[in-house]
Amino acid sequence: MRVKVRIVCKQCGESYILRGIKYHGIVQTGFKQCLCNCTEGFLIEEQA
Ligand SMILES: [Zn+2]
Repeated sequence: MRVKVRIVCKQCGESYILRGIKYHGIVQTGFKQCLCNCTEGFLIEEQA
């Protein structure tokens, strides 16, 4: 199932809109790293 996802970096506040794939309730986007080099602690929101 394809979903649109908004990822917000908790460190710098930057947000990204990406397309992801939802599989067994887990959204996979391939998103690895924010521009600020933060690699974890992202807020992930599924878009309707
Ligand atoms: Zn960031």
